[in-house]
Amino acid sequence: MLDWTSATQTLKNASQILVVSHVNPDGDAIGSTLAVGSMVQSLGIPVTLVNESPVPEKLSFLPGAENILLPSQVKDRFSVIIAVDAADISRIGNCQQLFADHSVIINIDHHGTNDEFGKINIVKADAAATAEMLYDWAVYLDIPISRSLATVLYAGLLTDTGGFRYSNTSSNVMRIAANLLEQGAESYQLADRLLETISVRYLEQLKTSLATMQITLNGKVAYLVSEEEDNDGLVNFARNIEGVDVGILFRPSDENHIKVSMRSRQIIDVAAVALEMGGGGHARAAGCTINGQMDEVIGAVLEKVKEAFKGVKE
Ligand code: 5GP
Ligand code: MN
Repeated sequence: MLDWTSATQTLKNASQILVVSHVNPDGDAIGSTLAVGSMVQSLGIPVTLVNESPVPEKLSFLPGAENILLPSQVKDRFSVIIAVDAADISRIGNCQQLFADHSVIINIDHHGTNDEFGKINIVKADAAATAEMLYDWAVYLDIPISRSLATVLYAGLLTDTGGFRYSNTSSNVMRIAANLLEQGAESYQLADRLLETISVRYLEQLKTSLATMQITLNGKVAYLVSEEEDNDGLVNFARNIEGVDVGILFRPSDENHIKVSMRSRQIIDVAAVALEMGGGGHARAAGCTINGQMDEVIGAVLEKVKEAFKGVKE
């Protein structure tokens, strides 16, 4: 079990808590935000949940998702903040405007690139999801796992392991998942809504985006371009091609920036590549946002990936 002593002490002494996570939240970010919300509430401490981005439509059915506010909807300033699934402070975005002077951040995360931006840092790079760590905290706090807490924790585990398929799917993940199912999480419903169901809009952009796929660097790298924000899983099509180790998705995030998502099978540590370009993540899934136009960004990223392959012993 992780050392939850100081996080627990700070939590229990707080008069109110702010919970934040990363911008453009995924299933683990929202699931973990809701899980901490539910846990803090069951200790009888007032809690506010905030994200810079609205909750994605796909995750809005999760119990309590309607309680996640935009920073502009919150008037209070908070002295104790719990940040979940965020590798560095910039990932929290403008939620920082809600921090009081001299506030204390409890940073709970599973990214190897986490820079320990909190006063209290609980970082476990080999946890599959932040939700996996939070299950541990709930047990430590002796909080009963309600059906809704089980659901949001399961959502984090399910999405960050790609449906219990990625290399982070450990026996511990499976044991926790089994416990969560026993507490009322519904495996089929959650997999159907979070992984299987796609919108017509997503299908349309899948068609357009797959047509942009390029395979390069002797078949070891594949990349594609998407114009849409909702491109969950799209990058896997690149990574999944036989013989490919690194799959990359490029998306313009505004006029001057390209969001880069990288996935690798087993050779390249894409977190290290992303870190060099100002981003971060995990060895097998990482990302960054780069200033520039599409062609130059693609060229620059491919160059970095090529260098990374050079550093690998054949
Ligand atoms: P995605 O490609 O799905 O956006 O992100 C993959 C992984 O990389 C996630 O764990 C995400 O948190 C991390 N990641 C993506 N973009 C960034 C970034 O700009 N900075 C950092 N530190 N991590 C990122
Ligand atoms: Mn995560």
